[in-house]
Amino acid sequence: MTDTQHKSVFRLDAETQTYKPVAHNLSANEALERFNDESNAKIVNQSEHHRASDLAKCKPCKKAAEELTTKLAETKSSQQEEQSVSAQESESD
Ligand SMILES: [Zn+2]
Repeated sequence: MTDTQHKSVFRLDAETQTYKPVAHNLSANEALERFNDESNAKIVNQSEHHRASDLAKCKPCKKAAEELTTKLAETKSSQQEEQSVSAQESESD
């Protein structure tokens, strides 16, 4: 038991396509046991222990969730842009 790195877990809301924090300060084993079966759950390494005991008030978790959501949106929009990237170019005379 030398691995002291903490894990946060975020769950993707399928309807809003946003990540929400569901747990933090978990051990690797704990995170895997609880969330490994969830395809919508994302387990992320924490750089440090989060001091907030209340997830809803945890700033690092909120920030990480926003970053995951942004990355997800970027991945989706870049896939769509390839189809119609030049459609918006219109010249007026
Ligand atoms: Zn946290």
